[in-house]
Amino acid sequence: MYEIDNTVYKRFKQKNNMLFRRLWDNTLPTYQQMLDTNLEGHIESKKDGYSRIDFALVAAGWTVYERFPYAFKWERKSLMDIGYGVNWMKSKYKIEDIENFTKKIKKVAKLYGASLVGIADVNDKWIYKTGFMRPNDVSEAKAKKEVRGGIAPDSIYDQPIELPDGINKVIVMGVEMDEEAISTAPTQPAAAATAIAYSKMAFIISCLGEFIRNLGYRAIQCGNDTALSIPLAIDAGLGALGRNGLLLTPEFGPRVRICKVFTDLPIISDEPNQGFIEKVKNFCKNCSKCAEACENDAITRESNPTFKPFSISNNPGVKKYYVDVEKCFEFWVENSSDCGNCIAVCPFSKISKFLTPDEFWSKD
Ligand code: SF4
Ligand code: SF4
Repeated sequence: MYEIDNTVYKRFKQKNNMLFRRLWDNTLPTYQQMLDTNLEGHIESKKDGYSRIDFALVAAGWTVYERFPYAFKWERKSLMDIGYGVNWMKSKYKIEDIENFTKKIKKVAKLYGASLVGIADVNDKWIYKTGFMRPNDVSEAKAKKEVRGGIAPDSIYDQPIELPDGINKVIVMGVEMDEEAISTAPTQPAAAATAIAYSKMAFIISCLGEFIRNLGYRAIQCGNDTALSIPLAIDAGLGALGRNGLLLTPEFGPRVRICKVFTDLPIISDEPNQGFIEKVKNFCKNCSKCAEACENDAITRESNPTFKPFSISNNPGVKKYYVDVEKCFEFWVENSSDCGNCIAVCPFSKISKFLTPDEFWSKD
């Protein structure tokens, strides 16, 4: 499924992710720049999809993700009595039929809002070697205040990441992003679809995490932190890696955001979707729509995957289509938001009609 050069492959250091690297790597043109760099200019430009209303939509979409303090909990430290009078953590729920229980866990994840759910055994390769560890019960905005301000010492985003003993399963979930909003990429309604999916993720993982704790088991709620989400999602049978460097799913293509909950629940893992992995491999070889749509040429047009990374922000040692994420992030700064062109144009996203931002706002 993966071609890995084990002499090269090492667990990824999250500080090399562009969103962290732009904080400390002064060789980058985007050093210390963020999405607000060009924002005022965009609003003044009066360009379709870049008005104050559009940006307000995006920023507000992040509300739950940024402000909810329990979104990324690793544990419940004390009894949370919300009126049920039960010490949920006192004993473990006895699971008699693992197959049936696994179905229930997936049902629960979907009920809380996940569009796709799969389960995998934890592969340590995909766990970050070091990264940013949020304090328990602290919101994203509060936890990252100093990091985002560029005044946090490296040690804050370079902490060793180790999952506790016994945490050997991961429930991986995909959250669909709105088709019409994404079709306007790279304008702000598309960025709003991203933001809303992140806020939904925060809701889903915190409810699922608490559900698992109510059964007396452990849950580690994660967004993009702690581990590489795409290989975990592939292991969990959710899809395949595309040329655009994103997870392509059979249902929504790359039009999903990924979140995950690590756990010690005894549940049954899914198998990778080999048929779909093969399909994507053959399709991407002859399609380069994402590369053509990328404003900054960040996506390779090579016909075959390689072992050639572009920069330290790519984790070397895996054969794949590497994306020049330095160039990608330069466009994000210019665009004052993430972009989504390579999501919208991918045939697997199944976008039936591409809208202008004006058309998006006019539609009921
Ligand atoms: S998000 Fe935009 S800039 Fe980045 S790789 Fe995709 S198309 Fe290119
Ligand atoms: S746009 Fe084409 S090449 Fe790019 S990820 Fe989608 S299928 Fe693959």
